[in-house]
Amino acid sequence: MTPLQKDLRSDFPPTELMKHPNNSVLIVGAGMAGLACALKLHEAGRPVQLFEGGDKVGGRVRTDRVDGFLLDRGFQVYLDTYPETGKLLDVEALDLRPFAPGALVYRDGRLHRLMDVFRRPASLWPSLIAPVGSFADKLRVGRLRAKILGSSSQRIAERPDRSTETYLRESGFSEPMIDDFFRAFYGGIFLERDLQTSSRMFEFTFKLFGRGSATVPARGMGEIPAQLASRLPQESIHLNCPVRKIDRGQSSLTLADGRSIKGSAIVIATDGSTAHRLLADRGPAPNAPKWRSVTNLYFSAEQSPVREAIICLNGSGQGRVNNVCVMSDAAPAYAPVRQSLISVSVLGLHDDTALSQEVLDELADWFGPVTKRWKHLRTDRIEQGLPEQLAGRDTTGLAEYDGVWVCGDHLSSASIEGAVVSGQKAAEAVCASLGAARKSGWA
Ligand SMILES: Cc1cc2nc3c(=O)[nH]c(=O)nc-3n(C[C@H](O)[C@H](O)[C@H](O)COP(=O)(O)OP(=O)(O)OC[C@H]3O[C@@H](n4cnc5c(N)ncnc54)[C@H](O)[C@@H]3O)c2cc1C
Repeated sequence: MTPLQKDLRSDFPPTELMKHPNNSVLIVGAGMAGLACALKLHEAGRPVQLFEGGDKVGGRVRTDRVDGFLLDRGFQVYLDTYPETGKLLDVEALDLRPFAPGALVYRDGRLHRLMDVFRRPASLWPSLIAPVGSFADKLRVGRLRAKILGSSSQRIAERPDRSTETYLRESGFSEPMIDDFFRAFYGGIFLERDLQTSSRMFEFTFKLFGRGSATVPARGMGEIPAQLASRLPQESIHLNCPVRKIDRGQSSLTLADGRSIKGSAIVIATDGSTAHRLLADRGPAPNAPKWRSVTNLYFSAEQSPVREAIICLNGSGQGRVNNVCVMSDAAPAYAPVRQSLISVSVLGLHDDTALSQEVLDELADWFGPVTKRWKHLRTDRIEQGLPEQLAGRDTTGLAEYDGVWVCGDHLSSASIEGAVVSGQKAAEAVCASLGAARKSGWA
């Protein structure tokens, strides 16, 4: 727990309700969307009250300290090219640690280096001869890079949307290149290897990866929401305060313990399933998303099996592992001195007790018998990882239902950047509606 997380309110005593200004904007959920929304409103001079059901801010972006290791909730990275989140954060204070632009792809019994040769020209030859896709596929990656990096976000949003798999086939990639590289790399990002995720989302991430680096803050992904929360009045954040009911048209909500709170406006910044549940019983509501799930395993080792900050991908078409990363190679503080922290992602939900042993056996083919000495630290089964992002999905980031504003990654791109942009849009909409109300004399 960072000092900041410790200082945040962990309860919401009844006496506080009496002091509560009725003119606060009430925000449900302190994930990235709720925090971005609260910060923008606070900076615009609007009082906010943030109600978070969990014991920490950050929602799906979370880091737990376990036996001296920093365990992020699932393998997550911050792209240092995220435009809006980058403006919001003090990026320097996060001390971002980059991963190499490329991957080691496991195939035919060994790891092959496949780098972004535009940023790692020295890796041109090993990347060209790596038996992952054909020579022509590698030229196609160059062409795709030029097309996407040369396109504005507007242009990307205007292109026809289809599945990433169809898009890659139409771009001329061979099936082996799609199977051995794209399914593993984008499988880890979209949490699905069928590549049914929207091609716009593919272009959005491809562009950000092409322009910058995948990074983690030196002391864990949880530092990102913690930094945003530190810029809000501490008394405005209420942890362990799940909201049970929203009263449409009344700008009031009911907490799980039965207390009722009135504000000037309400923003629901929860995950999509909860947003649906909070609104659906009394009228129109956002659709409940289908979820992509992932099972993440952490192991400790005396030595890193790769000794570099690079993602390792399963391009073999067999086995359960999708990707592996040695977190402490990128950010040493993720593990105690003389130890390494290894993160392994298996797509989907798996609750079999034998999973960690199976994963170790499988990874012995990648890294050798050294995996026998790795120690299992924790397995996270993350059912609600990412909302499904099929082609044609609305990503405008904001919805309004009888005066209640809804934001979050289920209405935007499923990413930290998408959640932040959506939260900021909700803040702008609230400011505009309260400004209009004030002019007409009812607020
Ligand atoms: C395994 C994994 C890997 C990912 N990888 C990346 C990555 O590499 N890069 C990237 O940019 N993004 C990644 N993401 C996606 C990113 O984490 C999310 O898109 C983003 O954090 C969503 O933020 P949000 O605020 O919309 O929702 P959430 O984070 O879900 O926040 C919603 C908040 O609402 C709270 N809440 C729910 N119900 C209630 C209630 N009734 N009352 C009060 N509070 C409530 C929740 O506790 C939560 O804190 C990944 C996600 C996962 C799970």
